[in-house]
Amino acid sequence: MRLTRYFLPVLRETPAEAQIVSHRLMLRAGMIRQQAAGIYSWLPLGWRVLRRIETIVHEEQQRAGHIPMLMPTLQPADLWRESGRYDDYGAEMLRITDRHKRDLLYGPTNEEMITDIFRAHVGSYKDLPLTLYHIQWKFRDEIRPRFGVMRGREFLMKDGYTFDIDRASALHAYNRHMVSYLRSYERMGLTAIPMRAASGPIGGDDTHEFLVLAATGESEVFYDDAVTGLRLGNRAIDYDDRAAVQAVCDEFTALYARTDETHDPVAFAAVPEARRRVGRGIEVGQIFYFATKYSAPMGATVVNAEGQRVPVHMGSHGIGVSRLVGAIIEASHDDRGIVWPEGVAPFPVGIVNLKQGDGAADAACAGLYAALVAKGIEPLYDDRDERAGAKFATMDLIGLPWRITVGPRGLAAGKVELTCRRTGESEEISPEAAVDRVAQVVAGR
Ligand code: ATP
Ligand code: MG
Repeated sequence: MRLTRYFLPVLRETPAEAQIVSHRLMLRAGMIRQQAAGIYSWLPLGWRVLRRIETIVHEEQQRAGHIPMLMPTLQPADLWRESGRYDDYGAEMLRITDRHKRDLLYGPTNEEMITDIFRAHVGSYKDLPLTLYHIQWKFRDEIRPRFGVMRGREFLMKDGYTFDIDRASALHAYNRHMVSYLRSYERMGLTAIPMRAASGPIGGDDTHEFLVLAATGESEVFYDDAVTGLRLGNRAIDYDDRAAVQAVCDEFTALYARTDETHDPVAFAAVPEARRRVGRGIEVGQIFYFATKYSAPMGATVVNAEGQRVPVHMGSHGIGVSRLVGAIIEASHDDRGIVWPEGVAPFPVGIVNLKQGDGAADAACAGLYAALVAKGIEPLYDDRDERAGAKFATMDLIGLPWRITVGPRGLAAGKVELTCRRTGESEEISPEAAVDRVAQVVAGR
C-alpha cells in the first residue's frame, strides 16, 4: 500500500477525551473514530489489526477442532424468555421493537440462540461432542463505556459453545478452550494469565478469566510472579488427548493467580514473599462450564447410549476480539507510539523514501515493494513528499515492526537501512538482504 493512496488520518495532537494510552494511540494513529458513546468505526489501519486478531482466533479454534459459523446480531426476545434471562439481564440489554411490534434485542451473548439451534438439529449422543463458535458484534449498554474499544457498548467477540454428553467430556472441551486461548494470546504477543473467576450472569462453577497485566486494567489481580514466565511455545498439542490437554491446563493453573472476586488471602500467603504480586489486569477472555443451566430449561436433550433422553452439558467460551486491540497496545508501546507484535501488525514492514522524487531512491523503493509483494508481504510505503522526520514519526506512531529506509547516500553504497521498531536497532544491508530478513520473520509469526 502506498501511503499517498491510503487513508491514514493521523492526529498530531493528543485527543483530550482519551484517558489511557491505548485509546490515545488508537485515535492518534487513525485506527478508530467514535460515532456515539462506546460505538466506533474501524478505520483502515484499525480494521487491519482487528482482522489479524480474528484470523489468529479462527486458526487456533479450528486447530482445536471447533467449528466456525455465524449467528445474527439481532435475536428474538422469546428465546431469552425461555431461559429466564430476558428480565434478568436488565438495562445492559438493548431492546428493540420491529414494525410488527415484535420484541427483539441486540445480542449481548448467544447461549440461548445456540441452544435453540442445537435442539432443532441434534438428538443423539452419537452427534457429540460438538463445539460451534462465531465471531460477531455484541451490544451491551454499559453504564460507563470508556477507554475506547476496551469497554465499548458495541464490541466484537468470539464466542464458542460446547455440547457434551457428560461432565468429563465437557471439562475436556473446557480444557481445549483454555489451551487454544493460551496459544492465541501468545501468537498475539501477549501474556494472558488464566485466573479462577466468579461466574456472574452466565452462571456455572468452573470458570477462568484470562488477564493481561497492565496498570490501566479494570480488575485487581493477585498472583505468583512465576506464572508470568510460563509459555506454550511451539510444543505440539493433540487436542484429542484428554490427559495431555489436562496436563497443559494444570501447568498453567497450578501457581496462584486470582482476581479480587476469588482472591483467597490465606492461599496467597503461601506464595513465597519475593514472588507475591498485586497488580491490575485487563480481561481478554473467559471460559465457563455451566452443565445443564440452559439445556434443561430450553429442552436441549439427546438420547444417551442407554436410550434415555438427557439434557446436554454445555459451556461457553469468549474472547474479546476488539478489546484485544487496546490490550495489546497497553502491553506494547513506548513514548513514540505503538509497538505491534509481529503476529498482529497491520503491515509487517514500512518503506520510508528519504528523497521522494529522486530517480534512484524512487526506483529502489519500487523494487523493494515489488520484491516484498512477490514474497506475499504487503508493505506500507511512505511515498509522501515529506521531511524524513515526519515520515519517521508516523512510522513510529503506527508501530510497524520493521522499517526499511531508503536514501540516495545509502544507495550509492548499495545499502538500505533495516530498523526494528521494538529495539530501535538499525543495520545497513543490501535491499535483497532486507527483503529476506523481513520474509523470514513474517514466515515465523
Ligand atoms: P467485563 O467483566 O469486562 O465487563 P464480562 O465478564 O462481562 O466482561 P464476558 O461475558 O466474559 O464479559 O465476555 C467475553 C469477553 O468479551 C470478555 O472477556 C472481554 O474481553 C470482552 N468484553 C466484554 N465486555 C466488553 C465490552 N464492553 N467492550 C469490549 N469487550 C468486552
Ligand atoms: Mg468475563
